[in-house]
Amino acid sequence: MIDFEYVAASDLDAAVREGSVPSTRFVAGGTTLLDLMKLDVEQPARVVDLNPLVGGDDSLRYVRVRPDGTVTLGALAHMSDIAWNPVVRDKYPMVSQALLLAASGQVRNMATMGGNVLQRTRCVYFRDTASACNKREPGSGCSAIRGFNRQHAILGGSEHCIATHPSDFAVALAALDATVHIHGVSGDRTIPFSELHVAPDDHPERETTLKPGDVITAFDLPPLPYTQRSMYLKVRDRASFAFALASAAVALDLDKGTIRAARVGLGGIATKPWRSHEAERALIGKPATPATFHAAANAALAGAKTHKDNAFKLELAKRTLVRALSELSA
Ligand code: SF4
Repeated sequence: MIDFEYVAASDLDAAVREGSVPSTRFVAGGTTLLDLMKLDVEQPARVVDLNPLVGGDDSLRYVRVRPDGTVTLGALAHMSDIAWNPVVRDKYPMVSQALLLAASGQVRNMATMGGNVLQRTRCVYFRDTASACNKREPGSGCSAIRGFNRQHAILGGSEHCIATHPSDFAVALAALDATVHIHGVSGDRTIPFSELHVAPDDHPERETTLKPGDVITAFDLPPLPYTQRSMYLKVRDRASFAFALASAAVALDLDKGTIRAARVGLGGIATKPWRSHEAERALIGKPATPATFHAAANAALAGAKTHKDNAFKLELAKRTLVRALSELSA
C-alpha cells in the first residue's frame, strides 16, 4: 500500500470540496477500498473519511418513512442496520434479503449503503496488477475475455470488459427503480438508480455517472404496495460469503392469479445492476403460470452473450428467475 493523506470530513460541503481534488477517494466502511489499496489496485493520494458526518448535522445514517410512503435510506447506514430494519423487512423483503445474503456478518456491520452500490468488480484480473485489465489500466487489454471467465457477465458486456457488478443490494434497487440523492459541487440533485451505473462499452474504467466530489447521500425506495410480495434469490458456489453466479430480485402484483405489475432485477450475470424490462413486459397481464415465467426468463436472457467458461450462466439465470417467480406466486 502506498502512503496517502487522510482527511476527516467535517461536514458534507467540506467532503465534496475535499473529494473533488484529483486522486482522492472517499472511504466509509472501507470494506472495498482498503482491500484494493492493499493490493495496489487503488492508489489514491488522498482519502476523505465520511464517517465523521454520522455524528454531525449531516448525519447520513438513518431510515425515514415519508408521508407518501417513500422509504429513504441514508447512505452511511450499515448493511446490517437496513437488512434488519422492520420497515424495510415488511415493505421491501427483496432489499432485506439481498443484504442478508451478501458478504459476512462482520462485513455487513461495517459496509455502508453508498459503498455497497459503488463497490468494484471482483474480476480476478482486475485485482491482480500483473494482469492486463482495461478497467484498471485503460487500453491494456482484457485478460478475462480469453482467460478464465466463469464468473463473468453475459449481459451488458463489451469487447473491452465483461466484469460483473458484484452488489446484491444494487440489484434490488434496480428492480425497484430507486432514486439516488447526490450532494455535489453544484448542490443537491437526484437521479434514477438506472442512471447511476454505466455499462463498460469503450470505457470500462468509467463505472458510474458520478462527478468528482459527488457524495451519495441517500436512496429513496418508492411506495409500491405490492413490493411486500417480493424476494431476492441468490445462487452461488457456497452457502455464505460468496458472490452471485446468478440472482433475481422480483416483485409481483397478483390479482386472482393474473400479474398486474412486476419488477425484475438480475444479478451475477451483468456488468451493471440489471433491470429486465423485457421480463416485466412478458409477465404483465399474463397468468402466473410456469409457462409465463419461462417466457419471461427467455425474454430476460434473449440478448445474452456467453464466453468460454460461463455458458452455464444462461440456463442458471433463467432457472433462478423462474424459481423466484414461482416461489413468489405460490
Ligand atoms: Fe479488467 Fe473487465 Fe477484463 Fe476483468 S473483465 S480483466 S475488469 S477489463
